[in-house]
Amino acid sequence: MGDREKSICPFCGVGCGVVLDDSGKGRGWKAAVNRRGELCPKGVAAYDVLGHDDRLTEPQVRDGDEFVTVSWETAFSRIEREFDRIVDEHGPDALGFFASSSCTNEENYVFQKLARVLGTNNVDNCARLCHSSTVAAMQSRFGAGAMTNTLNDLVDADCFLVWGSNPAEQHPIIFSSYLAPAVNRGATMVHIDPRKNRTTELAEYHLPVKPGYDIPLLNSICAVIFEEGLADEDFLWKRVSEVAQFRTFVSHVDVDTSAKLAGVAPDDVREVARIYASADRAAAFTGMGMSQHRYGTANVHALINLVLVTGNIGRRGTGVNPLRGKNNVQGASDVGCLPDVLPGYRPVTDTDARRALAELWGVEPPPKPGVTEVEMTHDFGGEIRGAFVFGENIGATEPNVSRISEELDSLDCLVVQDIFPNDTTAQADVILPASSWAEKSGTVTNTDRQVQRMRQSNEPPGNARTDLEIICELGNRLTDESFDYDSPEVVFSELAEATRQYAGMSYAGIGEDSQRWPFSAEAEAGTGVLHRDRFSNGKRRAPLVPVEHVEPVDERGSDGDETPVLTTGRVIEHFNSGVVTRRSGVLTHLRSTDALQIHPDDAAERGITDGDQVVILNDIGRVRAVAAVTPAIRRGVAFITFHFAEQLVNRLTGDELDPESKIPTYKHIEVRVEREK
Ligand code: SF4
Repeated sequence: MGDREKSICPFCGVGCGVVLDDSGKGRGWKAAVNRRGELCPKGVAAYDVLGHDDRLTEPQVRDGDEFVTVSWETAFSRIEREFDRIVDEHGPDALGFFASSSCTNEENYVFQKLARVLGTNNVDNCARLCHSSTVAAMQSRFGAGAMTNTLNDLVDADCFLVWGSNPAEQHPIIFSSYLAPAVNRGATMVHIDPRKNRTTELAEYHLPVKPGYDIPLLNSICAVIFEEGLADEDFLWKRVSEVAQFRTFVSHVDVDTSAKLAGVAPDDVREVARIYASADRAAAFTGMGMSQHRYGTANVHALINLVLVTGNIGRRGTGVNPLRGKNNVQGASDVGCLPDVLPGYRPVTDTDARRALAELWGVEPPPKPGVTEVEMTHDFGGEIRGAFVFGENIGATEPNVSRISEELDSLDCLVVQDIFPNDTTAQADVILPASSWAEKSGTVTNTDRQVQRMRQSNEPPGNARTDLEIICELGNRLTDESFDYDSPEVVFSELAEATRQYAGMSYAGIGEDSQRWPFSAEAEAGTGVLHRDRFSNGKRRAPLVPVEHVEPVDERGSDGDETPVLTTGRVIEHFNSGVVTRRSGVLTHLRSTDALQIHPDDAAERGITDGDQVVILNDIGRVRAVAAVTPAIRRGVAFITFHFAEQLVNRLTGDELDPESKIPTYKHIEVRVEREK
């Protein structure tokens, strides 16, 4: 067992401090977020998988249908030979780089630098799959796509509007240590979700919106606010533009019709509008129930309208607060693992930004924006001939995985750097055994923009190496530049120079606490509220934007009567495709909460009873599951988790992407559900 180094939990974006206990389990220490040392079950089990028998411990290369264990030299040489050939024959844009939002800022910074020094901006991370729509809308309206507020100041809210998110299971310590205490002190929680879940238990109001109908619901709430004179006219006058145009748009919204379209009682909409608009400080939280839609960016634009109309931004206890999924999805994006922006969100088309990086790197990054994550997979075997997948299981987490499997097969060379065998390593040409979270040091950036330090307590097993070491070695072999960094701290110094939001941060400054971006050495605790007097884009006013609803009909076509629509989510014990958490000691088997939740009326129509084996299918795939018949899910909707290979829901998700952010449509899947004969 390793040392007792204080580190940061490797799972969700909350970023709790965790340290090894005498029992071999994780124990919370009083870190920047979990100030009382709280942990959820995943944090407690975080050390369980370190010595797991399934760990990848040797480099492997494909030889026909077999994998052969080889030396690091052989593995690196094969990558060098294949990638050099691809670049020579097709140019650098024939390579695609999939960064890891589970790994550190330092690793991701060097990873995107490798792609750009090679000459391509084809680098993305799984933020594309979870909150790219949120970031796109917030960036365009405010100039920053991150949480507008901090967890500490949100406890001052009188009202929480939790939309398309289940923090009780997905961000448990935010729920138990920040939201619940505020509600217990008198704040009102409104929960908008097609399904009653553990978060709903704390809510005073629950609106079970139909998946894909967030916009009519948000527009109808805004309509009530204007009709009843509840808008913050002073804020509209001082901080908002395009107000008259929006008033006109909303005046044509019929509240009853829009509410019914969204599947919600009009009186409930009116009540929630009054609660939210009348609060002195109302904070909106948003999750993937809002972002992962065909028009996810439009959904968030509609939410931003509500926030602006009521003046709920730029103050403690307010704002638009996307709860980020993985432990470093914020940081991977901050340090440049996105195809259209460089570190610090400076566009790749910005000549000054490229020149500044050229001074730091010795090579100017290319000016042409790269291809987004899902689009890269669609280009596999065509424009893209080689891919480097770092710590992501894209064979299970991308939409339409049957298609992805064929696409991975069509690559000339697939390199996968990971810690366990998974759906993606199964199709690799070269597998590089890497380090788990406790076997390396570095920084991660949590959901409320706090940069914290992870500290190494264990050595990588067998011949596995640290991720940074592997990426730097490939940088030295594949490019003419030096990727010799003595330590993660040296990388951090460089990334803080390249990433303006991190300017001035240091390992010493972070210490056992955190530094929050946008960093200011003079900033005192609690000054992390964005957009106070001006928005992050330098403007005093943000615009209101009329958002029209578009019917969420799947492009594959719907059979109308054969609903329900399938939506997905997590349970507290597991994370994403479950490759790590299913190997931990928390919960390794399917249980009732992982079953397909279906409303009693929908079940009765299909002759399904609780516990029956059912088949969920559409024209691209089929999945078997056990039925859990429950009124917790609204009629016409079914719910399932996505953690289990036995019922891999991404066999059913289609190829439709949000036109702006290119996020897949994970939360509105047209299916049929049948009792298995
Ligand atoms: Fe880890 Fe998130 Fe649980 Fe905290 S809330 S222990 S960061 S999984």
